[in-house]
Amino acid sequence: MNSRFAESLLNKNSFCVTWELVPGRGAHEKSQQDAVKAARLAAADGRIHAVTITDNPGGRPALSASCLGIEIQKLGIEALIHFTCKDKNRNQIESELYALERAGVENLLVMSGDYPSSGFKGRPKPVFDLDPVQLLDLINSLNNGASEPSAGANPCQPTRFFAGCVVSPFKASEAELMAQYYKLKKKIDHGARFVITQLGFDARKFHEALQFVKLYRPELPVIGNIYVLPFGAAKMMNANQLPGSVVTDRLLEQIDQERNDEDKGSGARLLRAAKMYAFMKGMGFDGVHLGGHNLKYEQVAYITEKGEELSSDWMKLIPEFDYPQTGGFYYYEPDHANGLNTKTPVNRTGLVPEYPVSANHRLMRWFHQVFFQPGGHLFPLMAKYYKGNKNPEKYRLEHLLKVIGNGCQDCGDCALLDIAYLCPMAQCPKNQRNGACGGSMNGWCEVYPQQKKCIWVKAYAMLKAYHEESQLENLYVPPVNWDLYHTSAWYNYFTGRDHSAVGKKME
Ligand code: SF4
Repeated sequence: MNSRFAESLLNKNSFCVTWELVPGRGAHEKSQQDAVKAARLAAADGRIHAVTITDNPGGRPALSASCLGIEIQKLGIEALIHFTCKDKNRNQIESELYALERAGVENLLVMSGDYPSSGFKGRPKPVFDLDPVQLLDLINSLNNGASEPSAGANPCQPTRFFAGCVVSPFKASEAELMAQYYKLKKKIDHGARFVITQLGFDARKFHEALQFVKLYRPELPVIGNIYVLPFGAAKMMNANQLPGSVVTDRLLEQIDQERNDEDKGSGARLLRAAKMYAFMKGMGFDGVHLGGHNLKYEQVAYITEKGEELSSDWMKLIPEFDYPQTGGFYYYEPDHANGLNTKTPVNRTGLVPEYPVSANHRLMRWFHQVFFQPGGHLFPLMAKYYKGNKNPEKYRLEHLLKVIGNGCQDCGDCALLDIAYLCPMAQCPKNQRNGACGGSMNGWCEVYPQQKKCIWVKAYAMLKAYHEESQLENLYVPPVNWDLYHTSAWYNYFTGRDHSAVGKKME
């Protein structure tokens, strides 16, 4: 039997409402008391189908989402646990999943998570052993009753997780947006059962994400994210201090003006949220996710009631949510009649890639074609040498070349071939092997804004120069096999020990 949350999403006659709660730091603090109180009120209100619980937001420690989720489910309302990859390796993840399964918590929202920012005596070690695509793959495998073969365990009873993922359509450039949508397809293909958008305020972008999912997988539920936006948070988002959340200058100005209202803008921001509820319901979203700092139960109730009231005339509200990013790229051609999108994707072939092909990329491309690609002039020689190599532990030259060219971290399970010869272990702080996280802004990496471009933006742009960008779309890169750490990646490649399995194909 499906969870109530799943039922409401899968039932086309129901509109799912979730409310986001933040556990906060500590175990017996006011934030936890408030969260439990809110959950109790939500449980008594039939309109709220689940409360969602954040997982160490901002990369700071807090009470575990799983712990609070288990407690809250006992109050009679389902929890939707934010399940991130940032602080735990794959075994800890599996272990926590078993704990949730045992406690009857089924709903998960899988994401990479904010980069760890602070902790006991300094910044904690970011883990990112799995990315969200790999985590969904693991959950799918557990749901099918399959244990990881590497664990050497017997199959377990199937778990019952209903896991979804996040997508951010609020990206400025073609490369940045395509990196999101390519990854979204992989998440869906690896078991995401629903999709929630990142928070944003541009109606055309919400429509774009909804249409993209529905054209790819019509039956997959999509939830729109509504954030009740006060001036302080708007200012932070406008300054890119909350990764991936976009507030344009014009919206910030409007919210600033609302502070002159008698109620200091609180009515205007709740009404904005209710209007978003209305247009999301009208557009065809399967539900909404309500969030906001210290959002009260009465405010949630107001948003849903007012939103329902406004939803019959939702098209009239669209012009109020016209907040494009400067020069922002949209996946579909505009529909000028209604301010949304047609079903025709923008023709991307004529658009100039926004990042130049680097000299390193050209060199690596040539090197791989000659030495590593079947059919390359020196491929047979390399294959023969490595297959007969009796001393694979001696690979100083290989390591030196890869350190100079790519800052190699010596994982031994090389993904350079998969990501336009960019290393996700060295050049992506979150080690994302299957696509960009949601935190980039204007093409810059979430962790190094204005300093380093996201590797997925670079990869898309450089591959596009060779009309090869779609190779980022379907390729699933499995998690690193740490058995190969500090071993020769070239040896592993030619002997079929790494994920690329070229050696196996040659046998
Ligand atoms: S390089 Fe891209 S995917 Fe990696 S952390 Fe930065 S923004 Fe995220």
